[in-house]
Parts: sequence; structure tokens; C-alpha cells
Amino acid sequence: MSVGKSCSSSGRLADSSGIYIHIPFCKQACYYCDFHFSTSLKKRETLIQCLVKELELRKSELQNKTIATIYFGGGTPSLLSVGELHMLIDAVYKNFKVVEDPEITLEANPDDLTSATIKALSNSKVNRLSIGVQSFFERDLKLMNRAHNATEAKNCLLEATQYFKNISVDLIYGIPGLSNKQWEENINIALSYNIPHLSCYALTVEPKTALESFIKKGIIENVDDDAAQAQFQILVEILENKGFVNYELSNFGKPNFFSANNSAYWQGKPYLGIGPSAHSFTGDQRSWNVSNNTKYIKSIQQNVLPLETETLTKTDKFNEYVMTGLRTIWGVSLDKVETDFGLNYKKYLLEQAEIFINQHLLYIDGNTLLITKKGKFLSDGIASSLFKINLS
Ligand code: SF4
Repeated sequence: MSVGKSCSSSGRLADSSGIYIHIPFCKQACYYCDFHFSTSLKKRETLIQCLVKELELRKSELQNKTIATIYFGGGTPSLLSVGELHMLIDAVYKNFKVVEDPEITLEANPDDLTSATIKALSNSKVNRLSIGVQSFFERDLKLMNRAHNATEAKNCLLEATQYFKNISVDLIYGIPGLSNKQWEENINIALSYNIPHLSCYALTVEPKTALESFIKKGIIENVDDDAAQAQFQILVEILENKGFVNYELSNFGKPNFFSANNSAYWQGKPYLGIGPSAHSFTGDQRSWNVSNNTKYIKSIQQNVLPLETETLTKTDKFNEYVMTGLRTIWGVSLDKVETDFGLNYKKYLLEQAEIFINQHLLYIDGNTLLITKKGKFLSDGIASSLFKINLS
């Protein structure tokens, strides 16, 4: 996901792409999660072989591009051994042209990052850890059914920061019962480890999750949007005071530590998604692999890519650009809108934006439409009010 002027990685990503590899296994299901994963690891070995094979089958995609980022997401990629991760990294190098010093991120859960594992990872090609801490309070971790406890989270950060410079920590706010004071404490504990990047998300109640069912039954209190908004403001204030840039709605990085992988996504660069449920993007088309491990394996073993594809219309591309632009510090370039979509789209955008500009939720700087501090938390809703519908 890479970037604008303030990100050191932007230059090397000029003509580059990223590869996302989905590891669809977890130890246990977090109550809020709607990602694709299985808690049975029975098919692990076969599935990894299929990931390697999918990389081979898709080696002609991303032609003329160099791979600048490799991202292991999931699921829980830290369930894989360093040997298994290297088997996948080697398959990327074998089938694609990779830049000299790619960003290789591993999403990891604290309970997997033992001292020995961190040391082994530090001797591997993985050079960035994205650690799913979510909270330093036992009560919250239990409420979300996370597999780790607060002590494991702290120990893992202590150890990881001795071996890795480039670390991101995930935290969740808006958890029912989480006070503003506890939220501040969560942020400050993370900062006490000198972490250069944080990704912070509001707890959302996704359909068909255990969280949704517990809320419906009254077992867990519902999430409170106003509380989440207040905690987002606290987050922005603390982190900006500490020199972090809120370069995307949920992402805060010290200069030179923005996620190159995620920034590239947000800038509309192409990427390849490998593994069950992984999405790919060519610029004109989106495709997504089947979200089922058994079907994925069966299809790859028959040399058939288990994916569906959608071709984006001009309107789809405009809407996506507005949505991602407003979530980031790079905003929506009015020149780009005119060049890529035409004068009518630019006029339409400015007309729709006027009401939000008057409410100080959006502003124009030079030739760029941007979200204000006040509008940030509402950016997705504002963006959807600027969408074009059925005009292509
Ligand atoms: S570890 Fe991550 S992917 Fe797995 S269930 Fe929890 S939130 Fe979902």
C-alpha cells in the first residue's frame, strides 16, 4: 500500500506493484472478525503448496512491474514457520521481478511472537511487523476473544523492538465499556515502546459475527458511535503531538515509516492478491479468489484460478478515487479528476462538495480537495455523498 512527498518509499514505487498473500488460518475466532480464515490447520501444508503454485500460475500478471512490497495478511500469518514464509518469499522472487530492498510485512499476533520466533524472523527477509495488539486491557481482549493476553502483548513489543525498527501496532477503540482514560492509556503504552506506526480502528459490528449476535442477545453492550468518534479525536491529538502523521484515516506513521504496501493501495497502484479470499487490482479490473480453503486448494491443484473478476466502469473508478483520496493526506486532485474522468466529473464533484465545504468538513488547497480535521471521522459517509451514480 505507497505515497506522496512525505514518504521515503514513494520514489521506488513509481512503476511498482505489491503482492498480498492471505494466510487463512487462526487459532481462534475473534468475535468481531469477518475476514476469511479457518481454525483448523489440517490443510496448512497443502494450502501453502497451493499459494506457491498460484504465484507460478500468475507470474505473467504485473508484467513490466517490479514488486516493491510483499504483505503477509490474514488470518494469522505468524502461525507459519519462518521456513514456510521463506518458501513463499522465494516463490515471489522466482516468478516476479523484485526491487532490491522490498518492504516485507508480516501481520503477527503477540502470542505467536515468542523470543525465539522474533529472533528467527529478524534473520529472515521479513523487515516489517504489524502486530495485532488491539488493547492492553484483559477485559477488552476477553470481550473480543483475542488469543493473547496483555502481558504477552507487552513482552512481545519489548522483544520485537530490539530486533525490528519498522513495527506497526494495531489498536481498537470504541470497544463497549472502554473509557477515554483507558483508551489514552492504550495509546500511551504503545508509544512507550517507541513504535513508529500505529493502525487504529473503530470496533465495527459486522453482519453474522459473534459480536453481532452477542449484542442482539444483550450479552455485550452495543458500540457507541459518539464514543468512538471522541476516542478518534483523542487518538489524533495524542499522536499528532508526538510527531505522527495521520496519513490515512486509520493509519499514523512517523515520517519514513508509512506503510509502503498500504499507501500503494490507496494511490490506486496495481497489486496481486494470492490465497483464498485475496483481492487483486489491475487498474481496470478487480478480482477476488474464492473464500473457501477446500475449494481454493481443489481449483489450484487443477491449474484453475478460483477467481471472479469485475471490470470497473469510469464511474466506479471515480468513486473509488474519491473514497480513498478523502481518507488520505493526499486528497482528491481536481486536475487528476479532470484529466482522468473529464470536466463534467470535476464540476459534479465541486457541486456536491460545496455543502461540506460550507460546513467546514472539506476544504480546497490549491487544486486538491481534502477532508478537514472535523470531517475526518466522517470521511466515508462524506465520500459516498460525492459519488456519481450510473452516469458512465
Ligand atoms: S486473528 Fe485476525 S483474522 Fe484471525 S479471527 Fe482474529 S481478527 Fe480475525
